[in-house]
Amino acid sequence: MPKIEEYAAAAGANAIEELRGIASRLRGRTILNVNSTAVGGGVAEILSRMVPMMTELGMKPRWELVKGGEDFYAVTKKFHNALHGTPQELTASDFQLYRDTMRANLEALDLDADIALIHDPQPAGLIDRKPPGAKWIWRCHIDLSNRQTDVWDFLRGYVSRYDAAVISSPSFSQDLPVKQFMVPPSIDPLSDKNRELSPQEISDILDRLGIPLDKPLITQVSRFDRLKDPIGVISAFRKIQPYVTARLLLVGGTADDDPEGAQVLSEVRAAAEGNPDIIILCLPPTSNMEINAIQRASSLILQKSLKEGFGLTVSEALWKGKPVIAGAVGGIPLQITHKYSGILTRTVDGTAYWMKRLLHEPEYAKRLGENGREHVRDNFLLTRHLRDYLLLALYLESGRRDFIHL
Ligand code: UDP
Repeated sequence: MPKIEEYAAAAGANAIEELRGIASRLRGRTILNVNSTAVGGGVAEILSRMVPMMTELGMKPRWELVKGGEDFYAVTKKFHNALHGTPQELTASDFQLYRDTMRANLEALDLDADIALIHDPQPAGLIDRKPPGAKWIWRCHIDLSNRQTDVWDFLRGYVSRYDAAVISSPSFSQDLPVKQFMVPPSIDPLSDKNRELSPQEISDILDRLGIPLDKPLITQVSRFDRLKDPIGVISAFRKIQPYVTARLLLVGGTADDDPEGAQVLSEVRAAAEGNPDIIILCLPPTSNMEINAIQRASSLILQKSLKEGFGLTVSEALWKGKPVIAGAVGGIPLQITHKYSGILTRTVDGTAYWMKRLLHEPEYAKRLGENGREHVRDNFLLTRHLRDYLLLALYLESGRRDFIHL
C-alpha cells in the first residue's frame, strides 16, 4: 500500500493534510467493515484499498464477510435486483432464509468495534447484535430510487435501527427515522487498477491477453449482469459496424456473491456469435493491471448500465482520460456531465450514435476525457471518500445531532 503522502500528486497536498488532521481525532479506533465478498464488484474493490489506508492513518480497521450458502446468495441477488427496481418474486421462505443466515453469522463473526460500516443488504441484519456504545452505519451502494416495496419494507426494519445510513446519490434517499448522508464512492489512483502504466507495459499485457490493437478498441468492463446491459452493448456495436473500423471488447469476471454471472455470460456469447470483431474476455477477479492496461489501450469506454449504484468503472476510465459513453442512471450522472465530461445515453440507438460520432471526432472525444479526469480528481478519489467517512464517524461519536466540532 502506498504511503499517504504519495496521494498528494493526485489529490493535492491540502486534501492529504486535511485527511491527516481528521484521522488524528480517530487514532486507535476499531473500525469494522462487513460485506459479502472479498473479490469481485465495486464494494470489494473499494474495501481492498480503504482498509489499508485506515491502518496507515492510525486506525484499527477489520474487514469481515457474511457467509451463506448458494441459496442465500440467490435470495440476496433477488434483493439486489428488486431494490434496483427489477421486479422479483420473494417468498416467505426467502425472507426466513435471510433471517436464519443472519443468525448463523451473528454467532460466527466478531462484531466488536467502535464504528461499523455495514455494506448493502447482505449483512444488514447483523444490527441485531450491535454492541452497546458502538456507532453503526448502513452503507448502501444500491440505487434505491425505484425499489420494490416488499423487499425495502423488510430491509427497512433493520436499517431503521442503525445510527446513520449512507447513500451514493441524493435521489436514492428514503423515508427513514435515521439520518442519511451522501457519500459517493471512489477509486484509488495509486492502485494497480488505476496507476500510470508505460506504453510498453500496456502493449505487453494486451499482447499476453491476445487482444489485437490493429483496430480501435471500444470496451466495457463489467460483471456479467443484465443490469450492465451487455446485450445492449453488442446491439449498439452491431449497428455501427458498417460505418466504423473498431473492435468491441467485453471484459467481465464473476463475484462470489453473484450467482447469475454464468447464465448471463452464455447469453452474451450467443449474442456475439459469428462476429469476429467482438471479443469476450473473462478474467480472474484479481486482474487489476490487466483491466488498467485494457482501459488505457481503449479508444472509447462504455458503461451502458440500465441501473447502477455508482459505476466505479466510469471513474476508472475518466481518471485515465478516456471518453466514456454511459447510461444516464443511478450514480453515473454524478460522474458525467453530458457533452462536457462524457456522454450520457438512454437507448441502444443513442449509444450507437455517440460511439460512431466519438470515433469520428477524436479531438472532441479527447476533451471529454480530459474534463472527466479533472472531475474525478476533485470528487471521486479515495482520499475524499475516507475523509467523508471519518467526518461522519466523528459526527456520530460527538453525540450531537446538529453540530460537529473538529
Ligand atoms: N471489475 C474487475 N474485473 C471484471 C469486472 C469488473 O476488476 O471483470 C471491477 C471494475 O474495474 C470495478 C468493479 O469491478 O472496479 C466494478 O464496480 P462497479 O461499481 O462498476 O460495478 P458493480 O460490480 O459494483 O456493480
